[in-house]
Amino acid sequence: MGKGVEKRARLNRSLLDRKASFRRRLLTWYRREARELSFRGETDPYKVWVSEIILQQTRVDQGVPYINRFLKSFATVGRLARADLDDVLKLWEGLGYYTRARNLHKAAKKVVNEMEGRLPSTAEQWERLPGVGRYTAGAISSIALGEKVPALDGNVKRVLARLLDLDSNIDDGPTERRLWEVMGHLVQGRAPGDFNQAMMELGARVCKPKSPLCHACPVKCDCRAHAEGTVFERPVRTKKRAVPHHEIVVAAVKKNGRYLLGKRPPSGLLGGLWEFPGGKLERGESHEAALIRELKEELGIAIQPGGLVATVNHAYTHFRITLNVYRCRHVSGTPRAIAHTEVKWVRPSDFDRLAFPKANLKFLHLL
Ligand code: SF4
Repeated sequence: MGKGVEKRARLNRSLLDRKASFRRRLLTWYRREARELSFRGETDPYKVWVSEIILQQTRVDQGVPYINRFLKSFATVGRLARADLDDVLKLWEGLGYYTRARNLHKAAKKVVNEMEGRLPSTAEQWERLPGVGRYTAGAISSIALGEKVPALDGNVKRVLARLLDLDSNIDDGPTERRLWEVMGHLVQGRAPGDFNQAMMELGARVCKPKSPLCHACPVKCDCRAHAEGTVFERPVRTKKRAVPHHEIVVAAVKKNGRYLLGKRPPSGLLGGLWEFPGGKLERGESHEAALIRELKEELGIAIQPGGLVATVNHAYTHFRITLNVYRCRHVSGTPRAIAHTEVKWVRPSDFDRLAFPKANLKFLHLL
């Protein structure tokens, strides 16, 4: 039999039939090539949990210092449960997606108050904690507890879609269910935590979204898209919509050496963080008019806008903003917490005690 025929015959057998050799190739590569990261090899469920939550939607190089600081301050689930939410948010400052921090804190309290301080022992139990979805539960339970459960994140979805040469949209429910099922079979074997991490590592370092390094891929002989020449057409997914942009005005109102700040409501985007007041520009509105309106609506005070301090661009997942920060003079009225849960005048020297959104951190040094 010629080599090409042999290759096609092998690929025609499903990936699941070749599971054992596929796993062997992948795990050998992973153990030789995996990046040395401080959290790798960690099997303490609490530490794995914290690392997994921090690394969601965060690059590894950005997340590692946060993991180290977080575990230093809150070394156990009990210490996290007893901590003040403001201190947890302060440690999270700059990392974004603050719901993760609030849920982690809420989940720690649940463990301590309702589960006698005992962390879950299966993926199914982990999923009952706030902020722990199917992926995170699978990752924690396979890595820390050796449970043979899959962990399917965006990287792994892409790798599988290419290995299987799927021509259906990976964001569609049935296709996603199939991917979970395939991962559920592939993970059955020794070292399920290493296997899940190896798939993620392959996606992050070799089977990259735009420029996959197929020549260096340890499982290219198992890859149907590589054999069919469809790598760049996989995965098929929903086209991203254009990201909206919002123009925001921000008031730096100073009085007696202190700035006026508001604390955002506990839920929703940036919940529980402190910010300089302001808001979105309405259609046809000038910056000055928007500042006067927002401060009246949000705090019940009259101000006089002054000079522009900074213009800051910031991108969130689903939209982008431009903050136009103005020095403002307090004219009349006592600030009230209308749109916030708390408002107060704060000295610049006390800013570093409060947790601010990253977009605010970008101009704080200018005040
Ligand atoms: S051969 Fe290429 S497309 Fe296939 S899994 Fe490896 S890197 Fe991804």
